[in-house]
Amino acid sequence: MSSDSLADAEPLIFTETICAGVEFSVRPDRVLFAGHTGLQAIHIFDHAVLGRVLALDHVVQTTESDEFIYHEMLVHVPMLWHGSARSVLVIGGGDGGTLREVLRHPVERAVMVELDADVVKYCRAHLPTLSAGAFDDRRTELVFGDGADYVRETPYRFDAIIIDSTDPIGPGKVLFEAEFFRACQACLNPGGVLVNQNGTPAFMPTALAASAAALRQVFAHTGFYYVPVPTYVSGVMALGWASDRSDLARVQPDILAARQDALGLACRWYSPAVHQAALAEPPALRALHTRDCGT
Ligand code: SAM
Repeated sequence: MSSDSLADAEPLIFTETICAGVEFSVRPDRVLFAGHTGLQAIHIFDHAVLGRVLALDHVVQTTESDEFIYHEMLVHVPMLWHGSARSVLVIGGGDGGTLREVLRHPVERAVMVELDADVVKYCRAHLPTLSAGAFDDRRTELVFGDGADYVRETPYRFDAIIIDSTDPIGPGKVLFEAEFFRACQACLNPGGVLVNQNGTPAFMPTALAASAAALRQVFAHTGFYYVPVPTYVSGVMALGWASDRSDLARVQPDILAARQDALGLACRWYSPAVHQAALAEPPALRALHTRDCGT
């Protein structure tokens, strides 16, 4: 990793291009790291409102100010739906936030497959609040490689697969394709569930439709739930879910509450009511991913 430290340079303005003609800019208070891992550019910086921020290839990945919203909803919806997941696969998730939330459940094994070892290295060093020791948990197995290769080759079987990847560009693109989802399905135990991050439909409508079509090619039951993460500007973020069991979306809030209480799982965003509300899909968003297949 070569670091072109910007700490003593002119005040930096970090700008992310959301889509053509739409940008999100932040004036960092302090830059902790700026460089290139050989796979992606990486910036880690502080901001008075956002807290510490991780960006990869000039796309904000997560911020301390609201990461709990995203990581709690990405993890506890599938895990409390399932109710007894003991073997979990996380793909991506280099900052460690997803792994941290998975390990709050009584899992026996949490395998995390991250493409870029330097993302883990620099997040451990500069964003320790996200992983909060998860990388050192005895149940964690950290694998560095492409998640698409891993699911094709692993002998392991999982109760839940949680895909916390970058967007469907560059190395993350393969994680939104039907072939990858087929390999994931082959890795799931009976009754298993998959969830993935599907970006913000307001500015990535075609990505949502493409991901939905790919999931539908593979799984019997699929859908989306929506989470308001302020950092991912442009409204709600879509999280996809898929399973071959038919009852997941019918698990009632009282069951979810009993499971959450049994674990003593105190959350800052997730609750059974928020879980249910997140599944209420506005017609305009449903139309984005059903228009072409009329379902
Ligand atoms: N929460 C963020 C979001 O919603 O955009 C994503 C967080 S995490 C930093 C995304 C991780 O996915 C990165 O560390 C990146 O290296 C990893 N990644 C991208 N493509 C991958 C692949 N094909 N296999 C495994 N990890 C991948």
